[in-house]
Amino acid sequence: MADPQLTVMIPAEVIQGRVRELALEVSEQFQGGPITLLGVMTGSLMFLTDFMRALEVPHQVGVIQASSYCGESTTSGKLTVNIDFLPSLTGRNVLLIDDILDTGQTLQRLVEEIETLDPASLNTAVLLWKQCRTTYAVEPNYYGFKIDDHFVVGYGLDYNDDYRHLADICELRLQ
Ligand code: 5GP
Ligand code: MG
Repeated sequence: MADPQLTVMIPAEVIQGRVRELALEVSEQFQGGPITLLGVMTGSLMFLTDFMRALEVPHQVGVIQASSYCGESTTSGKLTVNIDFLPSLTGRNVLLIDDILDTGQTLQRLVEEIETLDPASLNTAVLLWKQCRTTYAVEPNYYGFKIDDHFVVGYGLDYNDDYRHLADICELRLQ
């Protein structure tokens, strides 16, 4: 049964088309590779896996954990980053992949952490960009869609760890 709290904002086929476009753009930039994709868990799960299948350059994949939301739909301001499971990034061309750029705190913190590991280059790709809310001085090198200030779920994005499995990106209106 349809969930009355959800409204489709970006349908699955539109997401799929845009992710393929981004992957081709990155393939052009890094002709021949190799690059290292670094997915920010858990929200970038679907974006990362669709993106890597469309990428036409040899690449390695790692994940990094960062969370700033603790069961709320507004940012808590606290951020935890776990770099324990990273592959070696020294001398590699790294592309950091995240689900959504909101205030920019997460991306800025992650970029600072990764820079300390001496990658040859560091670029960033986010699927969604709430540019109207970005207060930190960061801009993604690649983004899929700019969206207005709505709380969205699906395609990896969660609310209290629910809704990640949805193929569409949906606005969630809590009642
Ligand atoms: P920032 O640090 O840029 O403020 O927040 C980025 C993180 O907040 C994202 O990686 C994501 O986990 C979470 N976030 C921000 N906006 C939304 C949203 O609309 N929906 C969901 N599910 N998470 C969001
Ligand atoms: Mg996140």
